[in-house]
Amino acid sequence: MITQQRLDEIRTAVTAATPNGPWSPDWDSCDEEYCSCPDGGRFIHAIYGPTRVSDSTYPEGSPLHTYRKTVTEVCDFTSEAAQFVADAPQIVTELLVEVERQRARAKFFERAASKATRELNRMADAHEQCDVSREEP
Ligand SMILES: [Zn+2]
Repeated sequence: MITQQRLDEIRTAVTAATPNGPWSPDWDSCDEEYCSCPDGGRFIHAIYGPTRVSDSTYPEGSPLHTYRKTVTEVCDFTSEAAQFVADAPQIVTELLVEVERQRARAKFFERAASKATRELNRMADAHEQCDVSREEP
């Protein structure tokens, strides 16, 4: 079972990694004439953050000036964000295990509640029959 302490650690890591909203990938493609790259030469070359995290060191007018200002690359991530990206598969796995465990528990309790309800109804019916027979002279 995932502990409350572990959930708090994960929540803290998420908050520290993504303080300003979601990231989104930016795709590029290989420009080799005889491309043998996987996935048809398409790849994610950068991740856009919601806010600029680094200033351009390229001169005004250079095409890279705008690029550096608007794209967040992994190397521009804060330590917290980079660590979160590295830890994400483990975190997601832990959370999936916990979700599946909780679903199994929920199913168990739903079945138990349904069985108990049927039993209570049967007892109530029996009690009613008992009262009816007692009222008859
Ligand atoms: Zn290629």
